[in-house]
Amino acid sequence: MSTPPVPLSQFVLKVHSRCDLACDHCYVYESADQSWHGRPLAISDEVISRTAERIAQHAASHRLDTVQVVLHGGEPLLAGPARLRRVATELRSALTGISRLDLRIHTNGVLLDEEFCELFAEHDVRVGVSVDGDRAANDRHRRYANGRSSYDQVMAAIGWLQTARFRHLYSGLLCTIDIANDPLVVYDSLMRLEPPRIDFLLPHATWESPPARPPGGDEAYAGWLIAIFDRWLAEGRPVQVRTFDSIISTLAGGDSLTEALGLAPAVLAVIETDGSYEQVDSLKTAFDGAPVTGLNVFGHSLDAVAQHPGIAARQQGLAGLCQTCQECPVVTSCGGGLYTHRYRAATGFANPSVYCADLLKLITHVSSHLPPAAPVRPPAPTHGVSSTEFRALAAGLGGPAAVAQLTEAQRSLRRVLLGAVYQAGRAAPAIPDQVKADLQAAWTVLTGIDTQQPEAFDAAAAHPYVRVWAVRCLEQLKTSEPGLAAMLGHLGAIAAVAAFRAGAQASVTVPVMGGAVHLPALGRLLVNERDTAAVTVAGDAITIVAGDDRWDLAPSAEHGGPAGWQPVRRLRAPGICVALDDTDPYRDCHQWPAAPRLADTEFARWQRCFQDAWREIERDHAAYAPAIAAGLSVLMPLSAGPPGRDISASARHAFGAVAVALPEDPVTLALLLIHEFQHVKLGAVLDIYDLYDPADGRLYHAPWRDDPRPLEGLLQGTYAHLAVTDFWRARREVTAGPEAEVAGQRFAYWRDHTRDAISTLTGSGSLTPLGERFVSEMRQSVSP
Ligand code: SF4
Ligand code: SF4
Repeated sequence: MSTPPVPLSQFVLKVHSRCDLACDHCYVYESADQSWHGRPLAISDEVISRTAERIAQHAASHRLDTVQVVLHGGEPLLAGPARLRRVATELRSALTGISRLDLRIHTNGVLLDEEFCELFAEHDVRVGVSVDGDRAANDRHRRYANGRSSYDQVMAAIGWLQTARFRHLYSGLLCTIDIANDPLVVYDSLMRLEPPRIDFLLPHATWESPPARPPGGDEAYAGWLIAIFDRWLAEGRPVQVRTFDSIISTLAGGDSLTEALGLAPAVLAVIETDGSYEQVDSLKTAFDGAPVTGLNVFGHSLDAVAQHPGIAARQQGLAGLCQTCQECPVVTSCGGGLYTHRYRAATGFANPSVYCADLLKLITHVSSHLPPAAPVRPPAPTHGVSSTEFRALAAGLGGPAAVAQLTEAQRSLRRVLLGAVYQAGRAAPAIPDQVKADLQAAWTVLTGIDTQQPEAFDAAAAHPYVRVWAVRCLEQLKTSEPGLAAMLGHLGAIAAVAAFRAGAQASVTVPVMGGAVHLPALGRLLVNERDTAAVTVAGDAITIVAGDDRWDLAPSAEHGGPAGWQPVRRLRAPGICVALDDTDPYRDCHQWPAAPRLADTEFARWQRCFQDAWREIERDHAAYAPAIAAGLSVLMPLSAGPPGRDISASARHAFGAVAVALPEDPVTLALLLIHEFQHVKLGAVLDIYDLYDPADGRLYHAPWRDDPRPLEGLLQGTYAHLAVTDFWRARREVTAGPEAEVAGQRFAYWRDHTRDAISTLTGSGSLTPLGERFVSEMRQSVSP
């Protein structure tokens, strides 16, 4: 029995039907299907509009959260900036309020320049570039019609995507495999381009037109990929490789990550430049006319396309496979391979893949070579840092580009956490209906703002203590502890701040906690004792009503406002501005207690000390200043520590925040800021990479402490003390007399302790290969 059609959520939109290269492995021009001859060169305005409408109708009727559109060709950049702008604008405007648009472009890179990158930055278009490896590998196929190499142009294009300005647009590299190329040379050359992801693509082939193989090389493609897999695994999976990640994911019972593997239903359709709907492009290699559906955007909905027998056949999972595949031990990971690769003239697509032997060997190899400590884990993180920034961070530094990449990963993490709180809160049986209704209302405000102004959503969620709150909610939802209802209500406060940041209108209910209404990053309003208050946002004005009392706020102003309003104040110095947050209800998450609200005189002391400390950092510790300026968003005052002791702290869930008890002098404050920001950076690195085996429960000696530390604590302390060592080294050089002598002693003390701790880390045997690379860079930076 066939299953009902699955809605389509991925679209390949052909915006230009010709190409400026003449690759001899191209399935568009060099395969059995020659339909490109009759297509218009470029997509017309009418096809753009009808396509946007059709996708929006389909997304609305199936309530799709996200729709992915890949701009494709031929070579899509030949369509030119104006047409691409129109495509992006029409798609975004049609999908506004319906679905999130994940807009991408796959290009050969030849024309990609600063102007195109600026256009893509403006319209949030992620860019994937085709490149087959080093110059020799790339020149084997990817050449101009006159045989000239395209390599230099492609490298220049990728160079733009590696810049800090456009790095966020870089979605990855697409590499078509040629087994004549050395796999490790290809892998290393691609890794040097610092992609967030690599797709290795098997060359399109069928049983009628099998792939090139050396004599006796029935598993040559598996051998080629296995050589890369082994290197990639040994390096700690430093980048996403979709083929490997998909196999690892499906081996663990997770989803397939590519239509080329696994049993997930096909959800992709192609729209040609003339508005015809087609099935996947690779079918062009099967036979002339194979991808044709006979449907088009002018006369047919995408529901009709989803019901087309060719697409429906790829939505049947296991039932849609031939008997051999159905009985195969690796079918869950393989899924019969790419649909096109199963084609045989006599039996159509009811065959194993023409790469069957390769797929079986590769999947078996992956399954038997995953390390026992981490047998299977979720796919490598969507976010990562480039290898250049990884090295810089590991050496104890890392500039604004590294911080930007860590911040982007945190953004995704916060979004996942907020969604998890909402869903878990709505589903929890112990939560009263009214709290659930408030949660729903807050979520509706947030998702509405996210659709219209995602940057406002992100700005509200970026306050460090939002993640602290979300994690605490999720922990307490497991036990339904008292106070959970008020805690969940804080989502309303986050929604109010997002609406304020967006300049939008919204009404939400928020909890009164500790006699105050709290607006994260804006401040708190002391109100009479109530359970909840109503918050109405209209542009840059906020009205709060609690019982019979009403307050009108203008939170943009840092001072003034009605009685009881305590705005978050900001510390400023040339080149930096951070919030001094002494109001957030979730700020007290550090090992030392938070200070109560500071009087204006205390704030003035903070401002003076901060300004002097920042001058000190910029002048004498300049290597640390840019990252701190880029990533430090909150300074949280702590209550004074034990007599004679300067205290500071950071918290893993409070990315961007550093907590400090105001010291007597700015030099100490500079040291504490540098020290704690090391923890902030490393915590964010640990959020995306496994640097050590979490199963190691041993305690290790940390030379600067009496009590032994778990491995993560030792790693954190050592990483922070790299910077402390460097601080005293610099101080020894810029001071004189007894002061320089003290600085020299402290430098030697911390250098020796840090080196010892690095040796302990290395000798633990619990670092992952990536962790070993990280610690090895740490060692080098503390070497003479
Ligand atoms: S760049 Fe792509 S579309 Fe152009 S010829 Fe090469 S493979 Fe074909
Ligand atoms: S390995 Fe071969 S038999 Fe097994 S599912 Fe894949 S294509 Fe089918």
